[in-house]
Amino acid sequence: MKNIFAAFDLGGSYLKYGMGTADTLIQFDSRIAVESSDKQYLYSLFTQAFSDMKSHLSKDEIIAGACIGSPGTANSKTGKIEGVNPNLPEWTGANPVKALQSSWGIPIYLDNDANLMTYGEYSAYPKADSMLGITIGTGIGSGFVTRNQIFHGSTYSALEVGHTIVVKDGLLCNCGKKGCAEAYGSANSIIRVMSAKFPSLQKANIKDVLDKALVDKSMKVQLEHLLSLLAIAIANAVTILNPAILIIGGGVADIDSFPFSYLEKEILENLMIEHKRSLLINQAKYGNKAAILGGIILAETRNHYQKKYNIDSL
Ligand SMILES: [Zn+2]
Repeated sequence: MKNIFAAFDLGGSYLKYGMGTADTLIQFDSRIAVESSDKQYLYSLFTQAFSDMKSHLSKDEIIAGACIGSPGTANSKTGKIEGVNPNLPEWTGANPVKALQSSWGIPIYLDNDANLMTYGEYSAYPKADSMLGITIGTGIGSGFVTRNQIFHGSTYSALEVGHTIVVKDGLLCNCGKKGCAEAYGSANSIIRVMSAKFPSLQKANIKDVLDKALVDKSMKVQLEHLLSLLAIAIANAVTILNPAILIIGGGVADIDSFPFSYLEKEILENLMIEHKRSLLINQAKYGNKAAILGGIILAETRNHYQKKYNIDSL
């Protein structure tokens, strides 16, 4: 039988899922709309997605492991979701690993969604020393992979680049602090600030805002101001970590009218020459499926190590 690995990417609007291996990459994927952050409801959604994947297996394939990607602090050791989840408030305290592992009968791993996005993108550059991944979406996510390992920090909350402060006593952020990069550069923040300043943008979604800023000079100036603050946070993270590659992805960065080259220019302007010279900046190669791919590869890698050494080595 051939071992296939399943991955889930939970967000505020959709549960995306897919299966494959590090060799085949994503061989099947789909998504289900998320209508509540209730733990039992979300557990049942995961099981529905798992059944859908099983129904798409060939006769000689089995799902041998799964990885769940979640926003917020995802404790990979305990399987528990900790901290604050503004887009999925009731999800905090959930333990999808404990809740689902025995009924599914396979090992389940958990990690942060932006960590998995970075891990998925890193697989395209297997010789790279390190990669910093930034996702610009409803919020700002970030992950750091070095020598094929995700860096978690002592309490699984490392790489909160979006919650580094770029304006003293600035706008209130979802995390409770003031002046975080996320309070300026996330989709929700861009919409909030732009629609307050430009009445024609009231009720606009993020794509409308980005599209209109392409043709309206004063909107463009305001949008660039917001992105320049996000660029400071990203440049600070690059200055601290000195990654070989910086990947920028997420739902907002994927929109055609997103001014990627402006953000790139601003990041480079805030870097020292050594960092600037060595850094490769790219858009996410696997787009909004990068976290699924990262989850598939992580589940396969951890399964392999657990079988070989009978330990949890990553
Ligand atoms: Zn914050």
